[in-house]
Amino acid sequence: MHHVGAHVSIAGGVENAPLNAREIGARAFAMFTRNQRQWHSKPLSPSSIEQFKQNCDQWGYDAGTILPHDSYLINLGHPDRDALEKSRAGFLEEMRRCEQLGLTMLNFHPGSHLTKTTPEACLATISESINRTLDQTRGVTAVIENTAGQGSNLGFRFEHLAAMIDAIEDKSRIGVCLDTCHAFAAGYDLKTLKACRETFSLFDRVVGFRYLRGMHLNDSKKPLDSRVDRHASIGKGELGLKVFQYIMQDARFADMPLILETTDSSIWKEEIELLYSFA
Ligand SMILES: [Zn+2]
Ligand SMILES: [Zn+2]
Repeated sequence: MHHVGAHVSIAGGVENAPLNAREIGARAFAMFTRNQRQWHSKPLSPSSIEQFKQNCDQWGYDAGTILPHDSYLINLGHPDRDALEKSRAGFLEEMRRCEQLGLTMLNFHPGSHLTKTTPEACLATISESINRTLDQTRGVTAVIENTAGQGSNLGFRFEHLAAMIDAIEDKSRIGVCLDTCHAFAAGYDLKTLKACRETFSLFDRVVGFRYLRGMHLNDSKKPLDSRVDRHASIGKGELGLKVFQYIMQDARFADMPLILETTDSSIWKEEIELLYSFA
């Protein structure tokens, strides 16, 4: 079965995320586990954790359908020592929050070299950051997201994902989340069924579907290979509907969170219904 949802709000507490997902007819959801724009946040309270688990249970969201996203401040490939340590500490804290909530995945953007180091060195630093974090945690898979390649962000080539995975010691706890808008902006065509077949078979050859843990379903405001990350509502951008029909009809995308991060949250319910109508 396909599990479509959206990146929902945690306003008022993480325990509200499953309720917000329920309201839009989602069978999966993404969330932050804390304020994503601050370095420091209060620990999760026992009652918030308990209520989160209860709400997930009640509405049928198991850990395999929940894809938490880390803070945008974190750069696991930071070229500066102190800033890198800060990012690693922040990432470890996010992994621990996932552990506390009974979650099994944490989705993150790999990192940026900030033009101060080579892409290769930055990718190695990111893998080292992930290895250290996996060593200190249990049960949570680190899920690397492909990027649009804006600025000095890495992870926009499938080869980047493969290189990072290659350097991970515990392959059972490393995975990938593919964002359709990011892939397209990075130069991977997904506009036609033929292009989808080619792009995903390339992904399978370079990275491997066995590492795929989730998808971000976004249309793109910017054209192919623009290297600019601007999400559009489903069918309202440069991508059109074909790629979403393709994903909804392909069993390789079943049993994982398929998450909307589209710009107009007021139509998420309709977008989810549209996507299910393709299945
Ligand atoms: Zn995304
Ligand atoms: Zn994006």
